[in-house]
Amino acid sequence: MKEPATQFLPHMPEFRVVVFRRQKSKQSNLGVHMIDLFSFGFSSSLTAVQGLLMPALFFLLIGLAVKKAKLITDVKKSAKESTLNVKIFLFDSFAMSPVIILVSLTVNSFFQWHGWTLVSQESWSELPKEIVIVIAVFAGDFIGYWRHRLEHTWILWPSHAVHHSDTQMTWFTLQRFHPVNRITTTAIDSAFLLALGLPPFAVIANGFVRHYYGYFIHADLPWTYGWLGRIFVSPAMHRWHHAADYRFFQTNFATVFSVFDQVFGTHKVPGPCDSKLGVTDQIEASLIGQLGYMFRKKSYRRGRKPR
Ligand SMILES: [Zn+2]
Ligand SMILES: [Zn+2]
Repeated sequence: MKEPATQFLPHMPEFRVVVFRRQKSKQSNLGVHMIDLFSFGFSSSLTAVQGLLMPALFFLLIGLAVKKAKLITDVKKSAKESTLNVKIFLFDSFAMSPVIILVSLTVNSFFQWHGWTLVSQESWSELPKEIVIVIAVFAGDFIGYWRHRLEHTWILWPSHAVHHSDTQMTWFTLQRFHPVNRITTTAIDSAFLLALGLPPFAVIANGFVRHYYGYFIHADLPWTYGWLGRIFVSPAMHRWHHAADYRFFQTNFATVFSVFDQVFGTHKVPGPCDSKLGVTDQIEASLIGQLGYMFRKKSYRRGRKPR
């Protein structure tokens, strides 16, 4: 028997508590539900903020070691974009967490109901856990690669463009995603991993690796990794993906393994990235502007050079 889909989101146990408590009490008062949602939003925001402390310290130390005094100049330069990232992050952790959990639960229920799995969980249990985790991360990056390519087509670009609109990319840019982009990511990636029948611990490990390695590749670091860049995505490689230069728009889609970009012909890393970052889409640098961009008809222009 599979674990519920909330196992995909180990950092949000409070929601399960709220859901189960509400089912037992049989109260249907709208006010009580609103308070539940508000308190869940507040507690998930608090958990999310706490979860940022270690990465913030980690990237501060790396920044000091690599840039020394120049770090202060760079922090000042990125302050405006980072402030917007904070607003999107707070909105996301307060309002979107229940929605993301519901999407995960729905996809999981759908697969359980139909019994759609290519490999049984019993088969996975015959392999060592470490191997299963490596396979899960590899499979997660494979689907992530193709989902990301889809996000660079006219239909999903308007929601994905928000992530690319940060012109001063730092590790914290990982938090700049449109809620709809988060929903499509969760639905597509979860469906693929559930179809493979991967056990919950491996799916959780995949989410963990993608999240924390995601911070790393967004960090403002000049590292290309040398020959290791042929295996893993480096911060320089992902920075080129964010370049405002249209020649890089359809390149460097992977998050963890650069092998996917090499195999599918989208790998392009000329060296450390010194290119201007951002998009040519006119996206207002405000919370409302970022959230509203994908709802404008003219954002869906086909056959254009997106940047
Ligand atoms: Zn992208
Ligand atoms: Zn990115």
